[in-house]
Amino acid sequence: MLSSGHRPFRLTRYFVLVSGVSMAVLGIVLVMVTSSVLNEQSARTATASAHDLMGYAVRPLDVPTLRSGTLSRQQRDAVQETVGRFTDRMVDLTLWTTSGALVYSTTDDRSSTARDPLSFTKALTEERPQTFATTDVTLGPDGTVRRPVLDIYLPVHAADVNGPGGGRSDTVVAVAQIRLDDSEARAGVSEAVRQVTAAVVIGLVALWLVLLRTVHTTSRRLRAVARENARLALLDSLTGLPNRRLLADRMRQAIDQARRDEGRVGLVLLDIDRFKDINDTLGHDRGDELLEQVAERMRGSLRDDDLVARLGGDEFAILLPQVASVDDARRLAERVGTLFDPPFELGDLVLHVEPSIGVACLPDHADDASSLMRTADVAMYRAKHSRTGVAVYSAHTDKSSTVRLQLLGELHQALRESRQDELQMYFQPKVDLSTGRTVGYEALMRWHHPQRGILTPDLFVPLAEQSGVIRDLTRHALASSVAQLAQWRAQGWHVPVAVNLSAHDVTSETIVEEISALLTRYDVPARLLEVEITETALVFEPARIVPVLARLGRLGVQVAIDDFGIGSTSISQLRTLPVDTLKIDRLFIRDLTEPEREAPEVIVQAMVDLAHSFGLSVVAEGVEDEQTAVVLTHLGVDQAQGYFFARPLPADRLEPPHLAGPARIDGLAGPRLW
Ligand code: C2E
Ligand code: CA
Ligand code: CA
Repeated sequence: MLSSGHRPFRLTRYFVLVSGVSMAVLGIVLVMVTSSVLNEQSARTATASAHDLMGYAVRPLDVPTLRSGTLSRQQRDAVQETVGRFTDRMVDLTLWTTSGALVYSTTDDRSSTARDPLSFTKALTEERPQTFATTDVTLGPDGTVRRPVLDIYLPVHAADVNGPGGGRSDTVVAVAQIRLDDSEARAGVSEAVRQVTAAVVIGLVALWLVLLRTVHTTSRRLRAVARENARLALLDSLTGLPNRRLLADRMRQAIDQARRDEGRVGLVLLDIDRFKDINDTLGHDRGDELLEQVAERMRGSLRDDDLVARLGGDEFAILLPQVASVDDARRLAERVGTLFDPPFELGDLVLHVEPSIGVACLPDHADDASSLMRTADVAMYRAKHSRTGVAVYSAHTDKSSTVRLQLLGELHQALRESRQDELQMYFQPKVDLSTGRTVGYEALMRWHHPQRGILTPDLFVPLAEQSGVIRDLTRHALASSVAQLAQWRAQGWHVPVAVNLSAHDVTSETIVEEISALLTRYDVPARLLEVEITETALVFEPARIVPVLARLGRLGVQVAIDDFGIGSTSISQLRTLPVDTLKIDRLFIRDLTEPEREAPEVIVQAMVDLAHSFGLSVVAEGVEDEQTAVVLTHLGVDQAQGYFFARPLPADRLEPPHLAGPARIDGLAGPRLW
């Protein structure tokens, strides 16, 4: 996976090569320069000694003698004596006249001191000593002896000799050739060069080793950083779990493996219900904290083979690379679901959250990675929708989910200004059980779908709630209903209309401003508008919903609790809620006429009595027959609504309430007979 892994290695090799060559070149140059400097130094010293020697040698002579080149015996002896004192290093000494005639030589064999014409001339004309190294070869008793010598040509100035003898003192009057034994000096230089070489080699090697070590550790560190970066690119930064990329990678591997061994790969997708609300209400920091805790619980609970990943947001995935059966995958998903049983502690807050978990397996539900992902997603969606917690993919669900997605798109379209007449409000009367008269309507939406015909809200309201379109849908329901109220008022009907609100609508206070603005715009008194909010919605987030309902109440809008009885509000809690009306859920009403059932009646009776004691009016919904209406009247229910009285109808098909006669309930006798 780490394709850049070889690079640091190449770096070290490259360093070894380049630095090795340059260090060697540097070493050689250093040694060469040192040796040349030492040689020059040694030659300079030798030349200086030769100059001194020459000075001693010519001191007994004078200018005329040197010019003529003929020495007296006395002079020759004097020179011989002086020069004789320097025989330890000097090989020989020769004096020439400026024209090249021999004046004096220490050697008997004159031919051995053959003059080098070039050096001679240079010393004469440039008036500077000329020094060069040569080898002296002599025939000794044990064969030829070679020794290194320095051959030095020196100009002899008038000032060097005894008595100037006329003329300027810096005139060159003769040339001296002195050959000095150089073996010792050369040995010294060689030794010095050897030492310098050793020092340079040791120093450079040490330096090189230090550099090599540095480069090597740096390259190792670079490699580690590269590896870490690659790893981070595959991990989620918040939870440290593998991310979508890594999951996709492992999923491909697992699928390849499963295809080879005819095995099974399971994918579990999980998302946290209401996470958006938690994030919005408690802030993103708390949201992140919750995600971290969820990750922690999931990480701790799975086998090593299984991979937990965070896909982003509140979505997690568990890859089961080798799962024996779909049932096993489902069982694991259920076990993961139980991880959410203990509440989460976010600071001083204790929070219960529930996940929706979808399960899909390959090859049962999918044949490749992307379809496995999709089918698990469909299953998760179903789990969320049906609130079952865990759902295993089924082809049937998938089909309906495709339809759902399409429908959602179309709902978006229908909510556009230009197409809103597709979404029409129907009105169902609410009948006062003591008079049989219509005392209000509930507004229920119908979608006149261009292809699918008339659709009831259970087909599209839950969709709208899940996708956030609900706010637009509610706005439309409110606007149409208030507009209808205004129209009826103009016709002289003053009957209230109830509009259904979803939990999402009443978690923000803007709904109060919107309703208030609508009422002002259509000049409709607030008491004619009622809002219905389901008990489950209220239980779901009372802290945010109750203040909104209270503000609506203060505005004058009536508030009803819808579908009451199936949620978990205790009746005594009702006292604290800012509501005016209780609508008993159809479930209880339906059961009232079951012959062997006493309990529903008792329950409804208790609801009615308590609601009344708190000053709430009670509405029974789903009244489908006369017998039920009779029972409800006996139980003291104030109003009823249901197919027995009327189905929801568009406004233009409603009978005007003041013209419609009272509903007849034949089963009632005495004063209750309308
Ligand atoms: P709900 O508020 O409980 O509305 C009553 C439902 O019971 C309506 O279904 C109504 O047609 C139906 N109904 C009335 N009488 C009877 C009866 O005697 N027997 C039976 N079996 N059913 C009866 P509908 O119109 O299909 O609406 C379903 C749900 O959709 C409503 O339940 C309400 O929660 C929601 N809804 C409807 N319109 C809107 C809307 O404009 N906005 C929002 N947010 N939700 C709406
Ligand atoms: Ca309702
Ligand atoms: Ca209801």
